[in-house]
Amino acid sequence: MKARKDARARIGQEEFDLCVIGGGATGAGCALDAQLRGLRCVLLDAGDFASAASSASTKLVHGGVRYLEQAVRSLNLEEYRMVKRALRERLFMLQNAPHLAHATHFLVPVYSWSKAFYYLMGMKMYDAVAGKNNLFPSSFLSRAETLDRMPGLNDRGLRGAVCYSDGQFDDARYDLALVEALFDAGGTALNYARLARFEHDDQGVLCRGEVRDEIAGETLRVRAKKFVNATGTAADKVRSLANPSLPGRMRPSKGVHLLFPAEAFPGRDALLVPRTEDGRVIFAVPWQDRLLVGTTDDELTPATRMVVEKGEADYLLRQLNPYLKSPLRREQVESGLAGLRPLVAAAGSEETSRLIRDHEVEVDPASGLISILGGKWTTHRLMAEDTIDAVERELGRPVSPCRTTDHPLPGAAGYDEHFATRFEKEYALPADTARHLAGKFGTRAAVILGLLQEDPSWRERIACETPAIRAEVVYSIRHEMSETIEDLLTRRTGTQIYGWRCALEAAPVVASLLAREKGWDPAREAQAVKQYSERIRGFLEELVR
Ligand SMILES: Cc1cc2nc3c(=O)[nH]c(=O)nc-3n(C[C@H](O)[C@H](O)[C@H](O)COP(=O)(O)OP(=O)(O)OC[C@H]3O[C@@H](n4cnc5c(N)ncnc54)[C@H](O)[C@@H]3O)c2cc1C
Repeated sequence: MKARKDARARIGQEEFDLCVIGGGATGAGCALDAQLRGLRCVLLDAGDFASAASSASTKLVHGGVRYLEQAVRSLNLEEYRMVKRALRERLFMLQNAPHLAHATHFLVPVYSWSKAFYYLMGMKMYDAVAGKNNLFPSSFLSRAETLDRMPGLNDRGLRGAVCYSDGQFDDARYDLALVEALFDAGGTALNYARLARFEHDDQGVLCRGEVRDEIAGETLRVRAKKFVNATGTAADKVRSLANPSLPGRMRPSKGVHLLFPAEAFPGRDALLVPRTEDGRVIFAVPWQDRLLVGTTDDELTPATRMVVEKGEADYLLRQLNPYLKSPLRREQVESGLAGLRPLVAAAGSEETSRLIRDHEVEVDPASGLISILGGKWTTHRLMAEDTIDAVERELGRPVSPCRTTDHPLPGAAGYDEHFATRFEKEYALPADTARHLAGKFGTRAAVILGLLQEDPSWRERIACETPAIRAEVVYSIRHEMSETIEDLLTRRTGTQIYGWRCALEAAPVVASLLAREKGWDPAREAQAVKQYSERIRGFLEELVR
C-alpha cells in the first residue's frame, strides 16, 4: 500500500471515475474490480479497512449447508441458486489467495442412524450443488474414525460422523490483500476517511463527497463520476445522505464468537453442531492455534452492545457442550468477536436468521448513488462484479469483462503448502513465526524480514505467546496504513483475536513502535496504551463477571 499522505494528495488532485465508500470485503472487492476494468478508483473507509463485519465473521468460505437445507425445505429456488453461486465463488476465493484461504473438513457427529442418513444425504446434495466446484466428496466416518480425528467428542451413543468440506480463511487479511491489490492495479484508498456529506450537481446527481480525515482532523473533497455505497450495516445512512427520501432497507443482526485454547478440543477438523435450540447451526473451528466457536444471530436493537456478552457466551456453550467430552467453561475464553451482519429486509421475514444472505445492487435514479446491499464474505467478488457492471452501465460505457475470477492477490504467486517450511529454513525462524508470516503475507513474507537489516531486534516477538514479531508491526505501520494499536493487534497481526491477555502484553510494545514511526510524544504513547488496555480489560470483565 501507499502512505496516507500519497492517498490524500491523489484525492485532492484527481477526478476519479468511481469513489467506493466502505472498505470492508464488499467495497474492497468493488474497488479492485473497477480498477482492473480500467476505471480510476478511490476507496474510502470511515474506520480501518475491515474494521466492521469483514473481520468478525466465522471465517468460512462456504455455500452454507443450512441455507441449502432451508432452500430444500421451503422449495425456495432463489435460495438454492444463492448457495450454488456461493459454492462457485468459494473456489475463486481459495484459488486467488491460497495463503489466506484453504479447504477444511467439517464433521457432523451423529447419534442415531436416521440422523446419519439425513445428514449424509444433505451433504451429498451439497456436493452435487457444488458440482465441478466441489472441494472433496463428503463421506460417512465410523465411530472409531470419528473419535480418532476428534478425540474430544462426546462418545456416548455416538454412531459416527458425516464429513464434508468447505473453505476457511483469514477475513481481515483477505480484505487487506484486496486493498493492496487495488494499489498494485493503480487505484488508491484511504482509511479513517468518513464520507460525511454529498454535493449534488444542477440535476441533483452526486458529483462530490465531503470526507472527514479522522487522523489528520481535516476535511477533504473527493470528485468522482460515480459513487458506490458499500458500507454494510451503515448503508441506509449513506443512502439518505444521497437522497433523504429513500426508505431504510437494512436489518442488521449481531453475531458473536468465542476463542478457546486449541487443546480444549484437539484435532484438525471443524465441528458443525447441526441443530441449536433455536433451529440454527453453530461451528467449532480450529483457527490459528485456537478454537473458534460461533455464532449467534440476534436482531439489532437500541440495547445492543458491540461486545460479547455473558448471555451470548452461555448460549454458545449450551449448544456446543453436549457434543464435548469435557465441557468448555466461560473462564477458559481467550478472546471474542462481535459483529453485525448487513442483512437486507425481505418482505415477510420476521427473524434475521431466516433472511437469505443474498445481495442486491440498487441504483437510485435521482442521485445516481449505486448501493450494494446484503451478501456475505464468500460472495464479495460476485457482488463486486454485479455492482461494477451497474457502474459501467450508469457511466454509459459498454460492460467490460470482469477480471477478478482469476486474479491472484498479493502474496499468492509462487505460494504452495510447503512455503512456510522453506521460509522457516531459509530465514532460521521459529516454526510458529514462519507459519504465521507465511499465512498472513504469503510469498511476500520475506519483505518483512528485510527490515531486520535496519534493526535486528525487530526479530523479537511482540508478546511471548504470539508468533507475531516487531518487524511485522513496523512493516504494517509503514506500508499498511496502520494508525492505532488496535489496527495492528486485530486486523494486521491477529494478536487480539488470539488472546486478550496476550494483546494486553503486546500493547506497550506496539505503542512504542507506533511512537517511534509516527513521532508520538511519550504522553500520547501512554494514553494510547491506557485506552486500549481499558477496552480489552472491559471485554475480559464482561465475560468473567
Ligand atoms: C458474526 C458474523 C459471522 C459471519 N460469518 C461469515 C462466514 O463465515 N462466511 C461468510 O461468507 N460471511 C460471513 N459473514 C458475513 C460477512 O462477514 C459480511 O457479509 C461481510 O463482511 C460484509 O462486508 P461489507 O464490506 O459489506 O460490510 P462491512 O465489513 O461492515 O464494511 C462496511 C464498511 O463501511 C464503512 N463505513 C460505514 N459508513 C461509512 C462512511 N460514511 N464513510 C466511509 N466508510 C463507511 C465501515 O467503517 C465498514 O468498514 C458473517 C458476518 C457476521 C457478522
